[in-house]
Amino acid sequence: MAEASTEIDFDKAKAEIKAYALKNGALVAGIADAEAFVDAPEGFRPADLLPKAKSVIVVGGAQPRAGDWQSPVYEHMETMGTSERINSLALKIAKAVEDRYGYYALFVPPGVNRANQPFLSIGYAALLAGCGSSSLAGPVLHKDYGFMYYAAVITTLPLKGDALAEAACPAPECLDMWNERGTTPCLDICPINKGGCLGGKIEHGKVVERDFNRARCGTRVHTHWVPGFQKILEATLNEPDKDKRKMMLYGSLFTRSLWSITYAAQSQAQCFECMRVCPVGKEHRTKK
Ligand code: SF4
Ligand code: SF4
Repeated sequence: MAEASTEIDFDKAKAEIKAYALKNGALVAGIADAEAFVDAPEGFRPADLLPKAKSVIVVGGAQPRAGDWQSPVYEHMETMGTSERINSLALKIAKAVEDRYGYYALFVPPGVNRANQPFLSIGYAALLAGCGSSSLAGPVLHKDYGFMYYAAVITTLPLKGDALAEAACPAPECLDMWNERGTTPCLDICPINKGGCLGGKIEHGKVVERDFNRARCGTRVHTHWVPGFQKILEATLNEPDKDKRKMMLYGSLFTRSLWSITYAAQSQAQCFECMRVCPVGKEHRTKK
């Protein structure tokens, strides 16, 4: 990026920031206008975290590798995180914005604030920054790469917001499946009316209804990591039998949860099944 100067060409700064992000490992980068977060609850908007916020820089990438999707030892994904690669890039961008342009920049921390709400919804920021579009399964999907992790930086640097992305969901294959069977790959793998978490409706090629059992999904996604740790700790503290308590503390579930929370800066989903079957970005998860 260019050196700091008193006269800033904001369009040039935006192009430089995006080029820097892409060169340093992001697959996608976009800008959201800080004023655009009208659907976020009060207290969880950009200016609540950084007064006089003007823009939110969003970067995406760092998905599990194609090999990770292939592994039958699913536990290997429970003890590590790939998302910190995108977080560390966002931290570097925040530093660069302050050093090079002289404006405030705040990296939105992963994790949650009050009432288990994220400090700022990164998914919403990714949508507003045109990095991807919403999906029936839930995650923001990039048209070419599909599922990815996102990180965001709030800044007082006034950058022009990007246009919203084209809808990636439903993919053409999913539309065909819907027309034939009234379901899609993600709805089929986790149907809300059969003990799963996802429901919805497609009309005229567009998603018109979405149903999501967040609580049920949470119990399958956070079997390890912070919620898993809290649950095991409570059970261990309540266990009166000394030997059993010791087994719980030193057993593989507790140990893996500790690995998970110490090595993953961000929630690592332990159920990816709706994304595994999603055709968007599948070519990037397919190797020899
Ligand atoms: S992450 Fe798993 S439990 Fe949650 S919606 Fe997707 S398939 Fe269902
Ligand atoms: S499987 Fe199809 S319907 Fe489901 S999220 Fe992916 S593109 Fe959308």
